[in-house]
Amino acid sequence: MKFSEVPAPEALKKSLIQAISTGYVAHAQLFAGSEGSTALMLALAYSQYLNCENPSETDSCDQCPSCIKAKKFVHPDFHYCFPFAKSKLADESEEPNAYLPLFRSFLEEMPFGTLQDWSQKAEFENRAPIINIKSVRETMKDLQLKSYEAKYKIQIIWLPETMRKEGANAFLKMLEEPAPFTVFLLVSQQAEQLLPTIISRTQRVTVPKTDRTALSSFLQSRFQAGSAQADLAADLSEGNISEALLLLNEKEDDFHLLFMNWQRACYNNNLNKLIQYMEEFQSLGREVQKSFLRYSLTKVRNAMAISQGAPETVHLPPAEFADLEKFGKIFTLDFIAALLTELEAAYIQIDRNAAAKMVFMDASLRLAAGFAKIKAAG
Ligand SMILES: [Zn+2]
Repeated sequence: MKFSEVPAPEALKKSLIQAISTGYVAHAQLFAGSEGSTALMLALAYSQYLNCENPSETDSCDQCPSCIKAKKFVHPDFHYCFPFAKSKLADESEEPNAYLPLFRSFLEEMPFGTLQDWSQKAEFENRAPIINIKSVRETMKDLQLKSYEAKYKIQIIWLPETMRKEGANAFLKMLEEPAPFTVFLLVSQQAEQLLPTIISRTQRVTVPKTDRTALSSFLQSRFQAGSAQADLAADLSEGNISEALLLLNEKEDDFHLLFMNWQRACYNNNLNKLIQYMEEFQSLGREVQKSFLRYSLTKVRNAMAISQGAPETVHLPPAEFADLEKFGKIFTLDFIAALLTELEAAYIQIDRNAAAKMVFMDASLRLAAGFAKIKAAG
């Protein structure tokens, strides 16, 4: 990956490159960013630049043999260590190498992805992926090999916070005995969970959330999104690229309409309408149903922010903002809490394959009862 493909601040890229050109390459670096940040992309761009045979002052050449192998994630001197759990896509294997092809394609498709994105892609289902002790030992073994062709041997450790105690201690030993021309790039989404002894052995690269403009143009150039849609997704996602992509794929306008109509029907206790929306919900399919419920949760939180005096935190087109403003006026705080609980419960049930119609109708009737109480009280 080239630096120019990464929607991160230019100043940050510049400082990474400058350090290399002055000959200062720390042997262990911690790229720390939040979920959906560019931390992994930056680590990939940085490592490609480190070994590029013909780098410019601002980027790797992307064409030399080293760059070509690095960007396809097949360079023999680049080693990847990542969390995994058993998956049928890798024949339930416990060997880290069995998951490498899947991980490569994850890096290609969504190098900004979250642990959940990776779990979905690799179909770990309900098993929690971790960097197990075997993965750490593989990394150790790899360290003992001389580099094949590149100047630096690169060890990319994605989400070191998923190591358990045994793995983390073994890993710490490796960091304590640096091998020459080996660079560890730890990429963390929850750096505060790492052992302090690991953190103290790394040089920290703090990766900020992707800003709105950079994120919007990234969505437009990489995913051919229209500019209005990309702006909206960038706003709503608050710098989380993975979330922005999800929003982009959802039919934002349809969701807004369905959400408002649904809540109005609950408020009016209109059973005929509720049955109609239940059918509509059913027709969305499970993944979109889940997105819709996630969307609904965000909307309720937005409505709450508007009614509780923090409207500046809500970025929405004016018409949607006005709808939510009206909607928020009906709410009491108790009701909002109940509404959020209801939506979260519905999400979990859908996620566990419950019948969508039943879940939707159940939630609707409970919401209608909640609205009826508010009406009776007010
Ligand atoms: Zn190159």
